[in-house]
Amino acid sequence: MIKKKITKVGVLTSGGDAPGMNAAIRAVVRTGLYYGLDMYGIMRGYSGMYENDIFQMDSRSVANIIQRGGTILKTARCKEFYQPEGRKIAYENLKKNGIDGLVIIGGDGSFNGAQKFSNEFDIPCIGLPGTIDKDIAGTDFTIGFDTAVNTAIRAIDKIRDTMDAHDRLFIVEVMGRDAGYIALHSGIGTGAEHILIPERRTNLDELVNSLSEKEKRKKLVNLVVVTEGDEYGGAEGVSKLVKEKIPNADVRIAILGHIQRGGAPTAMDRYIASRMGYHAIECLMEGTHNVMVGIVDNKMKYTPLNKAVKAKQQVSEEWLKIAKVLAS
Ligand code: ADP
Repeated sequence: MIKKKITKVGVLTSGGDAPGMNAAIRAVVRTGLYYGLDMYGIMRGYSGMYENDIFQMDSRSVANIIQRGGTILKTARCKEFYQPEGRKIAYENLKKNGIDGLVIIGGDGSFNGAQKFSNEFDIPCIGLPGTIDKDIAGTDFTIGFDTAVNTAIRAIDKIRDTMDAHDRLFIVEVMGRDAGYIALHSGIGTGAEHILIPERRTNLDELVNSLSEKEKRKKLVNLVVVTEGDEYGGAEGVSKLVKEKIPNADVRIAILGHIQRGGAPTAMDRYIASRMGYHAIECLMEGTHNVMVGIVDNKMKYTPLNKAVKAKQQVSEEWLKIAKVLAS
């Protein structure tokens, strides 16, 4: 099959923001320009497509952004894009600008939108996984995850100092919605006694017994890291239940919140964003269309968008075991 040659590519960031999105935008734009394509920035995700907020980008447009968190193209949630009529208006705006290829940097919701759009219209879409939650199958890494974990670790290290000074039990809530990767990685990285993730049922009795037993041993400093989407309602919910069962415990909570989304991307996030951005353009030019660009075992992997949106990344049993063994 002869594929149509791509000449003008639009890039957008959509859904939840993640540090490293700017590095990805830069890589997409610079690679496209290198290969002689015209490059366009689309503001605020699908909203900019719908509202025709689209502008041409040159090499200078992406200068000095690789180290910056957030996204220069802004991001948004666009309700009109859920409707076929909204997507048609967005398509007509792309056509007006002559855009014949799209790179979407976002999470699984954004890929859902891209998949529908590419089924309906003749504009190939490439997805780059940009989410701190790492909840997308077909890639070992997502842009922003490493930075979020490092931010969580730095914050928890500080909490541990004060926790230790007062012999306290601290329950720290990290982001991740219904994915436990930030909790798992930051919990292991800070030596947490317990890590609660939505992918595994939390056995509350086991948690309470373990904390009571440690209290008896005068191991009074205990760190529990919990995902915001945990079944017991994050740090607030878990702390309430623990206080009911161990009334003597000096329990404090900390909800790390949006600091996990901000800040300069780590070396790792800049590197994977640059690599994925480069390959997004290669895919468009070579005719590998409607895929998500991922990295698995340090090699590029292209997953059809319809598969990328369906599967979730599986939590590694090995990691869970390591967390358990090291906390014993
Ligand atoms: P994320 O990409 O971070 O998962 P969202 O789930 O909010 O974020 O999705 C971002 C945007 O993608 C939505 O605001 C919407 O415009 C579009 N989108 C998400 N799901 C769909 C869908 N099923 N159909 C069409 N568009 C969608």
